[in-house]
Amino acid sequence: MGNAGGKGLSLARRLYTSRILGLLLGLLCVSVAMYALDPPLWVWALMLFNGLVWPHLAFQWARRSSVPYHAEHRNLLIDAFFGGFWVAAMHFNPLPTAVTISMMAMNNVAIGGARFLMAGSAAQLLGVFVGLAVFAPAFVPQTSPAQMYACFPLLLLYPLALGWICFRQAYNLGRHKRELLALSRTDSLTGLLNHGAWKDQLEIAFQRCRRQQQGAAIALIDIDHFKTINDTYGHVAGDIVLRQLSKLLKHNLRATDVAGRYGGDEFCVILPELPLFNAAQAMEALRERFAILGYEQNPALKVSLSIGLAAYDPTHADATRWLNEADQALYEAKASGRNRVICNCDEQPRQPVLDSV
Ligand code: GH3
Ligand code: MG
Repeated sequence: MGNAGGKGLSLARRLYTSRILGLLLGLLCVSVAMYALDPPLWVWALMLFNGLVWPHLAFQWARRSSVPYHAEHRNLLIDAFFGGFWVAAMHFNPLPTAVTISMMAMNNVAIGGARFLMAGSAAQLLGVFVGLAVFAPAFVPQTSPAQMYACFPLLLLYPLALGWICFRQAYNLGRHKRELLALSRTDSLTGLLNHGAWKDQLEIAFQRCRRQQQGAAIALIDIDHFKTINDTYGHVAGDIVLRQLSKLLKHNLRATDVAGRYGGDEFCVILPELPLFNAAQAMEALRERFAILGYEQNPALKVSLSIGLAAYDPTHADATRWLNEADQALYEAKASGRNRVICNCDEQPRQPVLDSV
């Protein structure tokens, strides 16, 4: 309900401007065509009402409505009805008639697509019948030069205004779409890529390595005994630790490295074009920095990282195999005492990386 209200209100605001302009220019077009027919006073009054008062009335009506969206649809049908009425009142004077019908059709299709075009056309037709009932049916076959010039402002300015409004809307929608896409790829706590987005990057990195025959490493990083940190200091403190690690990842990796939060207290990094030895050094530095940072913040809080590393191997059938190797290395880092970096590589025995270099 609140959402429908917000959506309707923004539609009402958008239509307010275009209705003021369209009906003001429409008033000029219709009144010059009607002038030649010397209509009674009430017709002039109705014309002025429709051209000058109705846009404000319609907006207030929609604004005060409990469902502005529906109110605006009703207002648009009233617009169409009036359009049809003036077409009959002008005795189908060709140019003002064509301009009125085409502007209304453009308006309706821009706002509600084919469905609203149909509904608007029906309302317009009803307006024509009511106009025919009020004014005797007649046909003015020619548009005078004055009537033609009176149509020009509507013909030239209204499509420009409506096009501009539609462009702004499409532009804003595009921006919102990009923002939503970025949000759907981001972990809300740490601001890093989330699980799904990181896995997409892993697939891209895997394909790149395969195509360009390049090396790369991936690391799975897990905080040791994180549950105890949560249990001892609370989840808020746990969240702070997670954010600290993500900050460390952001500030201590290369711009080309891709860090993500794999889930819970587990993080993941792609280190493109980096030999395993250098990748291990980078992870070793990260492990040390994290421990120092934790100690500086709270000496009682002992934080450490277990890290599993795996290098890209052309014999990997897919990215999942590569990831499994890193996972296996992480498992071994945990099993062999935690607080260490273990690499999983075929050529060397599995062991703490700095011992192996
Ligand atoms: P290990 O050394 O084997 O990794 O043990 P651990 O305690 O770190 O691992 P375990 O998987 O048992 O616990 C991870 C904990 O992380 C459990 C879960 O409650 C906590 N956790 C997961 N997501 C969040 C989060 O967003 N914030 C906080 N504060 N805790 C989280
Ligand atoms: Mg853990």
